[in-house]
Amino acid sequence: MSINKIGNGLAVGVDIGGTNIRSVIVNTNGEIIYSLKVPTLAQQGKEATIKRIIDTIQQVINQSRVNPNKLRGIGICAPGPLNGKTGIISFTPNLPGWKDVPLKKILEDKFAMEVVLENDANAAAWGERNFGVARGVNDLACFTLGTGIGGGIIIDGKIYHGADYGAGEFGHMTVNKDGPRCNCGKYGCLEAYSSATGIKNRIKNRLKKGLKSEFLNLSQESKVDEIKLKSIFEAARQGDKLVADIVEEAINYLGIAISNIANILNPQMVILLGGISNEGEKLLIPLREEIKKRTLYTHYRSLKIIVGELVDMAGVIGVASLIFD
Ligand SMILES: [Zn+2]
Repeated sequence: MSINKIGNGLAVGVDIGGTNIRSVIVNTNGEIIYSLKVPTLAQQGKEATIKRIIDTIQQVINQSRVNPNKLRGIGICAPGPLNGKTGIISFTPNLPGWKDVPLKKILEDKFAMEVVLENDANAAAWGERNFGVARGVNDLACFTLGTGIGGGIIIDGKIYHGADYGAGEFGHMTVNKDGPRCNCGKYGCLEAYSSATGIKNRIKNRLKKGLKSEFLNLSQESKVDEIKLKSIFEAARQGDKLVADIVEEAINYLGIAISNIANILNPQMVILLGGISNEGEKLLIPLREEIKKRTLYTHYRSLKIIVGELVDMAGVIGVASLIFD
């Protein structure tokens, strides 16, 4: 394990998102030596995005001025579905035109280095487990709460991938059989309630029906996308009728999902990253109540529910450190 191994060496970590590509150089202590962020410009198509990924890796290597001989490999994380074994990204909703892209092979051919490919939520879980809030924790689940909701599972100190690399899709856990439509096309998924997109879609639906917000300037639906989650939570706390129960349900359904995971996997820790987890204790207090209500006493007793500390760097640090393992 990288945390126990004293060694030198560096790895490149890359996080391919729908908006930005982040590329970093990480050492064996999980410290970022150099970091670079460029827009993905996904709408320019697959080939252009792949070229941008390659250019960004080259740039981070050049600009950091690290000794290239010290580089041991490149770790890439992206939202799936992807297969780390075959190195193929099957598709990713935020990158139009991507279908069965053999990204691992493309980058190995280009850079003549080991390349690992990992789902971004698994990578974030691994980052927190090795260098963040979960150091030394062998059984954990990590919820990445952003525009969507991802999940990473670590069992016995190893990332759990499932039969076809698809494990940990926490966002598509059904939490209400009669719930709203999710980005995946199904109904009642956690993501439709507790992701930033889910919360905002529900607000838009209410505006369409003519409901008004007392505290938020939401004259049109288009304004909803600009508004920060923080403001929505604040309005809910002030008692804004338009958003109060949407926020309450976002927390309740997240609690139900965490409780399901806790009852099934009995983890030591559940880590929350991004999105509504930025609310910190204001989220954690009602969330813990909900989880406590629904989780077996024996499972709740030993469970830590905690916000991650590597924030939006958890994925790149985690995936780069896979090179050292
Ligand atoms: Zn879904």
